[in-house]
Amino acid sequence: MISVFGSANMDLVAYVPSAPKLGETVTGRAFRTIPGGKGANQAIAAARAGGQVAFLGAVGDDSFGAALRATLEEAGVDVAALRRVEGPSGIAHIVVEDAGGNSIIVVPGANGRVTEPSGDDLSVIAGSSALLLQLELPMEAVIGAAQAAQLSGVAVILTPAPAQPLPEELLDAVSLIVPNEHEAAAITGLTDQDKALDALLERVPEAVITLGSEGGLYGSREGARLRVPAVRVKAVDTTAAGDTFVGALSVARSEGMAPADALHFASVAASISVQREGASTSMPTRAEIDAALNTG
Ligand code: ATP
Repeated sequence: MISVFGSANMDLVAYVPSAPKLGETVTGRAFRTIPGGKGANQAIAAARAGGQVAFLGAVGDDSFGAALRATLEEAGVDVAALRRVEGPSGIAHIVVEDAGGNSIIVVPGANGRVTEPSGDDLSVIAGSSALLLQLELPMEAVIGAAQAAQLSGVAVILTPAPAQPLPEELLDAVSLIVPNEHEAAAITGLTDQDKALDALLERVPEAVITLGSEGGLYGSREGARLRVPAVRVKAVDTTAAGDTFVGALSVARSEGMAPADALHFASVAASISVQREGASTSMPTRAEIDAALNTG
């Protein structure tokens, strides 16, 4: 079982010719509500990739909360321990301009109410092979979950997004950190990828820096170092490529794949997701990943 302790947001996306300035009203071209949040995205990615997955966190008592729960369930994610709290669910209000730029307001809502893992969360974590964490829940809750996992011998995989300073007490409990190149630079202060990887490995046993269409760079304290090639594809929407990569990687590791095979599996899964629109809607099933692995 892979547990994911993280955020669930409803993305409210308005497509406009150009974003309104303060005091201005513009007419949008289209509007979509899309289930998201890095936690929910990683849970769905892992479940689609063939993992047995439990999602831990909170949604509000509004219609978005019910829709988020239903989306996770449809993807086969166990939501028995997902809390329903009074008040609104987390939302991301996203304005996408025709030229491609976007601006985003995130209101954490129910996610911000998760100040510590619940008793149910702790039992699910203790029975897991891996715990996936991101930084969209309050930091004290993320640290609490990481430390509980470490005490139970559960591998902690951290996506350090959104980028922010990382407390030592969190990193001390992390087994594998997976930043993108911007997050790696923000954490280490280094833009050279090899040097950033070395700096990360001083703080955690294993690290992967993802590099978009350039693939990724993996290293371990034991001395392993691998370049992970990206699969050459025509990308149409890279939203949640990172979440797909991490979800698939956690499944591959929990199945005991060697690092090079697990990274290739994740890279193939992410390459499928970038060829389709959307976040959770773009994540491949295990059958799709296996088919791509066999033809690649
Ligand atoms: P996001 O924030 O959009 O979820 P990210 O910035 O966290 O993404 P990236 O480094 O952009 O993560 O991408 C993660 C992985 O997805 C890469 O390591 C690669 O395997 C795959 N990927 C991303 N973009 C492409 C692309 N254009 N073509 C092929 N693979 C890609």
